[in-house]
Order: sequence, then structure tokens, then C-alpha cells
Amino acid sequence: MSEIILAADIGGTTCKLGIFNSNLDQLHKWSIKTNTTDPTGYKLLEDIYLSFQEQLDHLDYTFDDVLGVGIGVPGPVDFKSGVVNGAVNLYWTGQVDVRRTFQNFIDCPIYVDNDANVAALGEKHKGAGNESEDVVAITLGTGLGGGIISNGEIVHGHQGSGAEIGHFRIDQDQRFDCNCGKSGCVETVASATGVLNLVYFYYPKLTFKSSILEKIKAHKVTAKDVFDAAKAGDQFCIFITEKVANYIAYVCSIISVTSNPEYIVLGGGMSTAGDILIENIKTEYYNLTFTPAQHDTKIVQAQLGNDAGITGAAGLIYTYVIERGGLK
Ligand SMILES: [Zn+2]
Repeated sequence: MSEIILAADIGGTTCKLGIFNSNLDQLHKWSIKTNTTDPTGYKLLEDIYLSFQEQLDHLDYTFDDVLGVGIGVPGPVDFKSGVVNGAVNLYWTGQVDVRRTFQNFIDCPIYVDNDANVAALGEKHKGAGNESEDVVAITLGTGLGGGIISNGEIVHGHQGSGAEIGHFRIDQDQRFDCNCGKSGCVETVASATGVLNLVYFYYPKLTFKSSILEKIKAHKVTAKDVFDAAKAGDQFCIFITEKVANYIAYVCSIISVTSNPEYIVLGGGMSTAGDILIENIKTEYYNLTFTPAQHDTKIVQAQLGNDAGITGAAGLIYTYVIERGGLK
């Protein structure tokens, strides 16, 4: 009997699914469309189960081979119970007991966590975190998410909202409203959305000429346009990039005095902007931090890309079932 881990990374449009071995090596991956028609989540979870069943049949495995199922969800999760407290992108309006629902399909350990936490766990085990016990991952996408791994454990906190670093208030002027209902969160100035907020805020105030002026006026500019123009020497876009980098560096410095990670891994679409962003973040991070221990933290680009979610979802089973023998 071979032993395998099933992994699901649920997103708003697709669910990435994977099969891993007990060393957390990826054996197979595929994806299915996310079913968002059922606010109770049942249909989506059933789709995932049926897709697993089909693949296992196809590959000559049975559910007896499965050590556990790890599931990443884009919403707030109570890690101990496996209950998701609503998920806007999935149109889940109330609580969804993902663990119990899935356990009715497959009787094995089921672990559920939010997508940012599982991405961090994936990068720790198989990506830029290099198997360190102290890794922080910051996802720079449309929003800004984070996962903190301290002493090998994902930090969940009292009610599961530990590491919600996107909603740390950094912009004291509170210029931009956040999806969370507050304003001034770091997500409003240091995500892809934040880049655009800053572009439209500063462009009327500055005298710099910009190569992307026409796109700005037509409201068609993207974060990638800004970073590409900055790389080409555009002064306005360099100014914006430095602002964004400084905000991210500030968050890194706060995390650094809180949990002193060995690695801070930057992932998500924006992290592919490369050196222009990361080098600016590093420079400001070293300005803001003071101890040799903090300076020893390595700020690096994520390595797993879109696979971080399924790798980390499988990593839940690897960490909590194989390595630790279950939740204490
Ligand atoms: Zn917020």
C-alpha cells in the first residue's frame, strides 16, 4: 500500500488539486472550476471529492492509501475545528464546516487552513523557506496576505486571525478605504490595488513626466505597468515603487521584532516585479531594523508560484499528521 496525501487549494475561480507522497513530493496536479452556486459550500466540496475519486481510480490508488486531506480556503478558518467563517470569493455566506463535510466523504484526517497560511507552509517545506522553522510569507496580489510560521508552527492565535498582516494600519492619513471596512490598512498602499491607489493619488500632485501618463489618464494602468516603467527609469514610477517598497519593508520590520523569522518570503503576482521591488524593500528594511538578529533575516522571492497553495495544503498533513502525529 502506498501512502499519499490529497491537497486542495480552493480559489475564487479554480480549485487546484494535487496528490503528494509522504515526503511531500508532488506526484500529480490538476484543477477544476470552482462551484460558487451553493452558499453552504457542500456542492463545491462534493465536486472536489468526486474529482479526487476519479483521479485515484485513474491512477490505481484507493482511499485506503490516503494519509489525510489538506484544504486551503480563501477565508477566515478556525484551524482546530476546520470551520470556515464565510468566504466572500466563494459566496459562502455563513459558517461552513469543511472538516466534517469532507470527513463524511473520506474517513481520514482532514486539515483546513486559510490560503495565506498554507502558502507559507508550502514555501517553508518545498520553496524559498528552505525547511526553516521560522518563515514568514507575504503574498502581494490584489490584496496583501500573510502567514507566519514560528518554531515550525503556523501562528493562528486566539480566534484564528493571527498573521492578518494586510490589515495593519500603516497609512495614518487613512487615504484609502479597505475591503475590511476600515481604512489605511497596508493592503490599501502595498498590494496591486494599493499601487494604483498611490498612482492616482500622487499623479496630479507631481511634476514628473511619466511614460505611462496616457494609461493613467485613461484609468488603464496596472501595477505591472508601474514596475516595468520604473525598471526603464521612469521617475514617477520609481517614486511610486519606492513608496510601496517602504510600506512593505515597514511591515517586515514589525514582523521581524515580533517573531524574528529566518526568511521573509515575498510571493504573489507583484513579487515577480523582481529586483526593483525586492532590493528597495531590503534597503529600507535594513534602515528600519537595528539588531544583528534582525539583519540576519533573509528577504527572498517565493519559489513555488501557483503551487504554493497545494504544496502547503498537503503540508498540513505532512506537518500535523506525519511529523507530529495529530493536533495536541
Ligand atoms: Zn483592512
